[in-house]
Amino acid sequence: MGEFDLIRRFFQRPVRHAVLGVGDDCALLAPAPGMQLAISSDMLVEGRHFFPDVDPRLLGHKALAVNLSDLAACGARPLGFTLALSLPRADAAWTEAFASGLLALADAHGCELIGGDTTRGPLNICITVFGEVPPGQALLRSGAQAGDDIWVSGSLGDARLALEALLGQTALPPGVLAAARQRLEAPTPRVALGLALRGIASSALDVSDGLLGDLGHILEQSHVGACVDTRCTTPLLEAGHQTPLPPELLQQCTLAGGDDYELCFTAPASQREAVEAAGRNCATRVTRIGRIEAEPGLRLIGPDSAALSPQWASFDHFAA
Ligand code: ADP
Ligand code: MG
Repeated sequence: MGEFDLIRRFFQRPVRHAVLGVGDDCALLAPAPGMQLAISSDMLVEGRHFFPDVDPRLLGHKALAVNLSDLAACGARPLGFTLALSLPRADAAWTEAFASGLLALADAHGCELIGGDTTRGPLNICITVFGEVPPGQALLRSGAQAGDDIWVSGSLGDARLALEALLGQTALPPGVLAAARQRLEAPTPRVALGLALRGIASSALDVSDGLLGDLGHILEQSHVGACVDTRCTTPLLEAGHQTPLPPELLQQCTLAGGDDYELCFTAPASQREAVEAAGRNCATRVTRIGRIEAEPGLRLIGPDSAALSPQWASFDHFAA
């Protein structure tokens, strides 16, 4: 099977919204008049972002999910995406499974595959997503204000816990591992929540590198500080709580784990009910974990209201 057969067979489908899809030198997108385009790329590299033997269907899902998560963080509605794919060989069974996971998530979000590039090489997947957002309504990292609440969606830390277990560094009972592994291998991009938070959230990003590090980007770009109550964040790690594990491990997975693809966002305290309603309408849990403060820096409250030391906050259990 040659390059063009592979593209035709697995990646070329009739377009529904785009003006022109796979097959010409460029795709053509027609965003609604007056809308801004939101654009983001994410690359997944074998050995760095996924295990070589990962289920290709899950890999297809995750490659698009992490990109949709960026659109979600901006409050943008997905339109389409391109797929730049480097494959070691033209393996029909592998490519079919990969495409089915990818396109199922794409269909679920009305996000069309409109083009890409295919080459032989080490397994590497680079997706660029295109979304649209009304002018001035994109959720940015720079909008947090002193006094705003800090919120996170869904659960945090399960993906990291699964990774620790798969690397043989933590033992998990089979049921717990399966639940945590689902979060690692098939994350859910919070697209509907991102859209619902337009006009409510003052800033947002998606948590891909760990909550505290990513919250740090909001603090830096908004020129503010924050206080996070870790008693609110600990229960967010769902799978791990069903099994006796060292509390420090659970806390580190939650605060610094990564690969969560949840939204961390801020909103004025006056919007608390609106945030709760947005979460309910999207069937997504939202948890208030702290408050933005004028004083720069990140302060953590630990058990018994004790302040956790900044050393602990910057301690990175997972650094290579
Ligand atoms: P060009 O020669 O202009 O680089 P290619 O021969 O690489 O074009 O690709 C032919 C067509 O197939 C183009 O429309 C391109 O967007 C599309 N395409 C290539 N690889 C992929 C892929 N992995 N997924 C979707 N579309 C692809
Ligand atoms: Mg090309």
